[in-house]
Amino acid sequence: MHRQYDAVVLGGGINGCAIARKLSQEGMRVVLLERGAIGGGTSANSSKLIHGGLRYLENGQFDLVKESLKDRQRLAKLYPDLVRMVPFYLPVYQDSLRPGWMIRLGLLLYDAFSRQRAYHSREVNKNAFLNRFPNIKPEGLRRVYVYYDGKTDDQELTRRLACDARENGGVVQEYCSVSDISLADGGWAVSYTDSQGEQQLKAPLLINVTGPWIDEVNERYGLPHNYRITRVSGIHIVINRELVPDCLFLQTRTKRIFFMIPWREGKTIIGTTERVENCPCDAVQINESDIDYLLACANRYLRNPVNKSDIVDTFLGIRPLIMDKRVKDVSQMSREYKLDVVEYQGAKLIHVFGGKLTTCLSMAEKVWRRI
Ligand SMILES: Cc1cc2nc3c(=O)[nH]c(=O)nc-3n(C[C@H](O)[C@H](O)[C@H](O)COP(=O)(O)OP(=O)(O)OC[C@H]3O[C@@H](n4cnc5c(N)ncnc54)[C@H](O)[C@@H]3O)c2cc1C
Repeated sequence: MHRQYDAVVLGGGINGCAIARKLSQEGMRVVLLERGAIGGGTSANSSKLIHGGLRYLENGQFDLVKESLKDRQRLAKLYPDLVRMVPFYLPVYQDSLRPGWMIRLGLLLYDAFSRQRAYHSREVNKNAFLNRFPNIKPEGLRRVYVYYDGKTDDQELTRRLACDARENGGVVQEYCSVSDISLADGGWAVSYTDSQGEQQLKAPLLINVTGPWIDEVNERYGLPHNYRITRVSGIHIVINRELVPDCLFLQTRTKRIFFMIPWREGKTIIGTTERVENCPCDAVQINESDIDYLLACANRYLRNPVNKSDIVDTFLGIRPLIMDKRVKDVSQMSREYKLDVVEYQGAKLIHVFGGKLTTCLSMAEKVWRRI
């Protein structure tokens, strides 16, 4: 016996949960199927920032930055216990590949896009900065800027969206293994197993929000689609002590950005790397070279260096970026998302390719408008 729904959402990351929340709010009968724990995929392994993406200004992704800043404000208002606006310091050194004027210009644009006067950026006194960050090297320091963005607990935020979906009447199922997705009577028939045994359901609409697994899911269930993704891994290391009192963004020798973020219980997160992965998502692993790279980045600026014995945890996430064969440099790849709407033998299928934590609300509203 098939249970009937209006929509099946496949994937319980932040984007799947935001969609289930929105559709259930609009009165649709929606069921979300997640193969593991809610938010246990990429959404538990991000840099945990609810941000406009200052760096994306360099790549001219102005619409993405504007949308992200708008969503940052909404998320901070909706979930004030989970999304907190905090200062981010940007020191510029003599050998920084981005000069101070360029950073100042970017920050002015960021302020203009955010339209939140209370969180506008400013230059801070070098000595005041060094007093606050005694572990940061003073040699070669030229200027320091501070701006504001949001910090969150990514998995907790994802779970909160799932709770909202449940409160609106949606069904959220964790730990289910989908065995088959097929077309039946102008809709989708989905068979899966959960802790209660074999289940079957039907819905006229299927929404595939499986993040970096999306290509593998499309192939496995034979779902038609118009895009593919490039999988770009990012690792973070967690250091057993507080290296910095506030978030710090720094530049590497190769113009990449890396950060140190104070984390729970006096720990510090250092991230992140960017590497294109060609193996299946579940086979991607952290390399020693990733760890060496992050330690070297941090030690270039730390008075008391960190080493491998200071690492208490590492975590890895995979960014699902829309494939564009013309772009070779990973940091230039667009962070924008795309909705791929496919009408297939009378049934409707929407794939979400890409999408950040920060833009989950706007993305879910766009999905709703496309229904
Ligand atoms: C290193 C890194 C740092 C990042 N930092 C930030 C940041 O600071 N701020 C920000 O806004 N964004 C950030 N992002 C981007 C953001 O984390 C992701 O884009 C976002 O979490 C993707 O969410 P999602 O719901 O699309 O995918 P996921 O969270 O991966 O969810 C997809 C879900 O689908 C499930 N699934 C897969 N196959 C199946 C199946 N067959 N059946 C059922 N379920 C299935 C998976 O288990 C998974 O839970 C970062 C990403 C990475 C990798």
